[in-house]
Amino acid sequence: MPFGSFKAALEDGFKNGYAVGQFNINNLEWTQAIVEVANEENSPVILGASEGAIKYMGIEYVGAIAKAAADMSKVPIILHLDHGSSYDMILKCIRYGFTSVMIDGSHYPLEENIALTKKVVEACHPLGIHVEGELGRIGGVEDDLTVDAREAALVRPEEAERFVKETGVDAFAPAIGSQHGHYKGKPNLAFDRLEKVRDLTGIPLVLHGGTGIPDEDIRHAISLGVAKINVNTENQSAFTNVIREIFDRDKEVYDPRKYLGPGRAAIKDAVRAKIRLFGSAGRA
Ligand SMILES: [Zn+2]
Repeated sequence: MPFGSFKAALEDGFKNGYAVGQFNINNLEWTQAIVEVANEENSPVILGASEGAIKYMGIEYVGAIAKAAADMSKVPIILHLDHGSSYDMILKCIRYGFTSVMIDGSHYPLEENIALTKKVVEACHPLGIHVEGELGRIGGVEDDLTVDAREAALVRPEEAERFVKETGVDAFAPAIGSQHGHYKGKPNLAFDRLEKVRDLTGIPLVLHGGTGIPDEDIRHAISLGVAKINVNTENQSAFTNVIREIFDRDKEVYDPRKYLGPGRAAIKDAVRAKIRLFGSAGRA
């Protein structure tokens, strides 16, 4: 089928209390793994392409591989730019068939973030492309934040209300204390802020850094309006661990299919567990 609609998938999740997974792709095997599981679980799914992955794979390949996957799929496949950094990058992704984009202006002052995000929405909406925006600072695990710094990085609900109203974004990623990469210790999510943001914005919310958040926290976040959850690190670890085991065990292996195949299977297991946890199985 043709690519699915980002907005339709997220709004259905928002209304019905489940989240659609965004799983980042790095190559052909990753794309196959994610799309195969989505079909087996009858779930919509978002293929996330970061600017780093686009640089690594080539945007022509990203667009073509994702399109081939969608064409063969019986469930909606969405191709989404993850953490887009510029207006030019957004235009490039539209040119290569992306169905939705994230513009990440979160490191700019509020006014500049609003202006950039609004400009992206104005370019995308007439073309049927949907937009995710972000406010606050979603850190990486390398950031050891003090309590004050953590507070400062979190989204301010009143700013979120203004941001969503003035930009017209279709989905909103509020920084609530989740991080990219593997967590050191237990994640500490600001559910009170999430709830306020949901009440003030009324649009589907996005949780970044979905790896390592306890299942009960994921369910809690979904109950407070999170309708899209980004997962990348978990698949990276699953893929690499299996391949490392194979190399440790077998010093003679040279056929890439003998390790990329098991790597792909490991991603499938990881994605399946997330799709079931997020409640999107059977929702395609
Ligand atoms: Zn992210």
